[in-house]
Amino acid sequence: MNKKNITDIDPKGKKVFVRVDFNVPLSGKDPNEEITVTDDTRIRAALPTLNYLLDHGAALILASHLGRPASAEDKQYAMDPVADRLSELLGRPVLKVDEVVGPEAAAAAAALKPGDVLLLENTRFEPGEKKNDPDLSAQMAAMADIYVDDAFGSAHRAHSSTEGAARAMQAKGGPAVAGFLMGKEIAALGTAVSNPPHPYIAIMGGAKISDKIKLIDNLLQKADKILIGGGMANTFLAAQGYDMGKSLVEEDALPEAKRLLEESPGQLILPVDAGVADEFSADAVRTDKSIEDIESHEMALDIGPQTFNRFAEELQGAKLVVWNGPMGVFEFPAFAKGTDDLAYLLADLVEDGAQVVIGGGDSAAAVTKAGLSDKMSHVSTGGGASLELLEGKELPGIAVLDEA
Ligand code: ADP
Ligand code: MG
Repeated sequence: MNKKNITDIDPKGKKVFVRVDFNVPLSGKDPNEEITVTDDTRIRAALPTLNYLLDHGAALILASHLGRPASAEDKQYAMDPVADRLSELLGRPVLKVDEVVGPEAAAAAAALKPGDVLLLENTRFEPGEKKNDPDLSAQMAAMADIYVDDAFGSAHRAHSSTEGAARAMQAKGGPAVAGFLMGKEIAALGTAVSNPPHPYIAIMGGAKISDKIKLIDNLLQKADKILIGGGMANTFLAAQGYDMGKSLVEEDALPEAKRLLEESPGQLILPVDAGVADEFSADAVRTDKSIEDIESHEMALDIGPQTFNRFAEELQGAKLVVWNGPMGVFEFPAFAKGTDDLAYLLADLVEDGAQVVIGGGDSAAAVTKAGLSDKMSHVSTGGGASLELLEGKELPGIAVLDEA
């Protein structure tokens, strides 16, 4: 996974098509209210790539999906509020057209001068986008001389604006390379997949084991140990014969949980205690107790203090840590402790020289909520994409890019 990036090309005087991730949250869908961007983190994250290209004499044609519009008639998903915010952040005008491809977009792209920025309409307004329609991809590539992908979060999907346009650019002899964000993701997650330093400790949590069986299988090949918390730990513990009371246990996944435990003696580290409650609610009262003491009316909603200590021991001296999935129902303050404590411990490990990579939407949200995302080596911006990469899958949006 050694891919060319924007420092390997000369963008001077060129038109660069950049697939960005501007899939940002928008304000209420009240038709009388002006729609605005409520969190511009993703737009800011693209700025290093965009400013680099502009500083080096390029004109930019930007494309992103936004939300899940049913069709081009879903105007609440139009890119106009994004164009406004981007213009403020770049400190220069951003021209927005009301189509992804077509005569208006092509004319606007043709008229661009170095330093100009054009934002195309929501790529999912085009029915061909998700089908990776070659004709749509060719029209995207036709507007530019260079293709840049900086949307890691969409790299696991072979869509026109990700895989297709890159291929179409290569077909007409142009480069297709990674932006800075994409390059960082490839470096951080790629290390974990291809040549991890040891000791390598993986930490897994989150609600369900069924979503992540392939991931656990692959991590068992690469990591020295996997620490298991969150709801998925309940299913493993139930597979070992513990009565987990009212805890979330996936009955259908019990055979797979048993298989994983049998195939990896000593490698999966399970909780020995839990923060339990009588009900699944934000103001439920927490009690910490050993797993074997969980009663039929109780449910495990967080890892307990002894489990945390055990995990901390396992993590001492780790060179690489990959964490996916919160240790408990971190949305409820009383059950965020295991997740928060772990985030602080990992921040300390980074200071001691370990590489700590966070993958997965809710895990990244939990680390951000604890105010610790800057302390980690890397917090992946792509939920599904980071998990698929860690599963060992080839991501079409990355695979297509020019080899370094
Ligand atoms: P990620 O997005 O990081 O991959 P997941 O989506 O797999 O993580 O899981 C996150 C969800 O898991 C959170 O909403 C959290 O409330 C839930 N969760 C964690 N621990 C438990 C538990 N013990 N019981 C029920 N749900 C849990
Ligand atoms: Mg999630």
